[in-house]
Amino acid sequence: MTLKASFFSGLKDKQLSCRVKGCRNTWTFDGEEQLRWMRDGKTGEPARMCPECFATYNDLNDLKVPCAAESCQNTWTWTRAARLAALQRGRTEPPRDRLCEGCRDKSREVESVAVPCRVRGCTNTWTWSGAERIRADGGSGEAVPPARMCDACFERFKGLADREEPCRVRGCENTWTWLRGQQLETGPKGPASAPRRMCASCAEASTGLADKEEPCRVRGCPNTWLWTRFAQLEARAAGQERSAPRMCEACHQRFQEYKDLEIGCRVRGCRNTWVWSRGMQLETAARGRTSPPRRLCGGCAEDIQRYAEKVLPCWNEGCSGTWVWSPEAQLSTLRADRDPEKNNPRKMCDPCRRLLTKMKTVEIPCERCGRAITWTREHQLLVQLGTWAKPTLCADCRKAQPRPEAPPAAETTSPVE
Ligand SMILES: [Zn+2]
Ligand SMILES: [Zn+2]
Ligand SMILES: [Zn+2]
Ligand SMILES: [Zn+2]
Ligand SMILES: [Zn+2]
Ligand SMILES: [Zn+2]
Ligand SMILES: [Zn+2]
Ligand SMILES: [Zn+2]
Repeated sequence: MTLKASFFSGLKDKQLSCRVKGCRNTWTFDGEEQLRWMRDGKTGEPARMCPECFATYNDLNDLKVPCAAESCQNTWTWTRAARLAALQRGRTEPPRDRLCEGCRDKSREVESVAVPCRVRGCTNTWTWSGAERIRADGGSGEAVPPARMCDACFERFKGLADREEPCRVRGCENTWTWLRGQQLETGPKGPASAPRRMCASCAEASTGLADKEEPCRVRGCPNTWLWTRFAQLEARAAGQERSAPRMCEACHQRFQEYKDLEIGCRVRGCRNTWVWSRGMQLETAARGRTSPPRRLCGGCAEDIQRYAEKVLPCWNEGCSGTWVWSPEAQLSTLRADRDPEKNNPRKMCDPCRRLLTKMKTVEIPCERCGRAITWTREHQLLVQLGTWAKPTLCADCRKAQPRPEAPPAAETTSPVE
């Protein structure tokens, strides 16, 4: 074996990576080539393409691409090598932001400008480079800078994601999307809590609504309260067609000032009370009154059910009229510890009462001695009913007069004494 042969055999084939950026393939650097490489005095390793890349490269041509500056007609050259590297990254289209040679030179003279960050509330700036300005207006300086974030905002922006936030209308299950960009606007510390906003459906519905005047819930109150569009939306979300009843401002104010009051039962003889609630007081006030209505206490309201109206005879002898004993009056008797079954009150009928009120006590002369006799209204009534006779003698003259015709029974029933 010669020295050369043994030297060859000492150099093993090497797998080196493809020179095209992004390509993971390798190419083979064989022993013989390595020897030649060394003999030429070269160090390091050669940069070469893998066979696939090389094949592609051979199929590619340099490409003329229009300059990115809008007003410029020139081109720049997208070389085969650059195209191949782009291909490795999956790109087949040339970059759109590249300038032609001339424009690139010009851009070095155009100053870059500090432009305020597009994020509302951020005071930082970002740099609009000369190259970008050339691209925008070819160097005329007419272009307006684009809306762009500063670096700090952009860093935060990358860490954010759109968020689904609940609709602010109570009862609505929908959400609205809090965009990343909007989250940035909440301040330099990052998103705290989402603003309160409506979902799209609520927002749309609200455009068709208007604030409405609704009647005060207090019966008898002529005032109104304002059912806002938003409150209408909430009602809609809760499946209600109509507004929930509410008080007007004035009633509400009074309601706060009022207190529930204990009021005595209307039934005579009853010591219990009933509660005049604030709401009932409002209704009373709405009718322009201040005193509580006359009501039964709870116990009386229940007990009164046991009684029915009773028709009783007029207590005036000789009258066939009747009067009605109301359940409440019967209850009142019970409250006075008397059994209404056994204690019918003695009262006159209405016609009798009306007659009585028209009458006046009068003085009439005694037929015998001429002295005045007091003739009471009650007696006049009984005379009118035909029960008794009109008096003619004073008491003294009557005593002096023998009366054989007067029956003893009539004497005892006479209520005149
Ligand atoms: Zn390759
Ligand atoms: Zn150009
Ligand atoms: Zn910013
Ligand atoms: Zn909603
Ligand atoms: Zn009211
Ligand atoms: Zn009572
Ligand atoms: Zn009567
Ligand atoms: Zn007399």
